[in-house]
Amino acid sequence: MKENKIIAIGETGLDRNHKETIDLQLEVFEKHILLSEQYQKPLIIHNVKATADILRLHKKHRPRQTWIIHGFNGTDQEVRQLTERGICLSVGESIFYPNRKITKSISSIPLNQLFLETDVSERSIQEIYGKASELLNLPLKDLKETIFANFTRLILSTWNTGEIKLDYSMADFIDHKDRVAIRVVDT
Ligand SMILES: [Zn+2]
Repeated sequence: MKENKIIAIGETGLDRNHKETIDLQLEVFEKHILLSEQYQKPLIIHNVKATADILRLHKKHRPRQTWIIHGFNGTDQEVRQLTERGICLSVGESIFYPNRKITKSISSIPLNQLFLETDVSERSIQEIYGKASELLNLPLKDLKETIFANFTRLILSTWNTGEIKLDYSMADFIDHKDRVAIRVVDT
């Protein structure tokens, strides 16, 4: 594993709707947790109906690395439980749907633990920033600065390439289409 070319480990995680057994998923997820700690890289986590498992494993491992749940769509209570442990939440196009939990709970995410993403959405990152700005009642400029500061503090600080030119669009680092997020398999 060429450490200096890797920005984060993921996505990994748990999906209780997936056909794969939860036992196997837990086994692989714990391996990724250990890799994240070993290589000192943030962990990008997929979470479907597994918040309780993620909280339990965070308590068990007490990781030093940042955990980021991507595509987050949870309740206020889940936001509180996760962010109290320092876990960051990345939010995508779900915020466009008024009946999704995240449309209400986004306001309870501490701004210094928030990320935005496109993931598999057809919507552009600009549209996602625009909608988040509206829901958070936060000017777009402030939102961009906040997310970029989170990216710099939590992600870039672990990435030692030394020669990267950045702009705000890099804050959308969890973008499947641009393949900025790097998948890692156990070697
Ligand atoms: Zn995912």
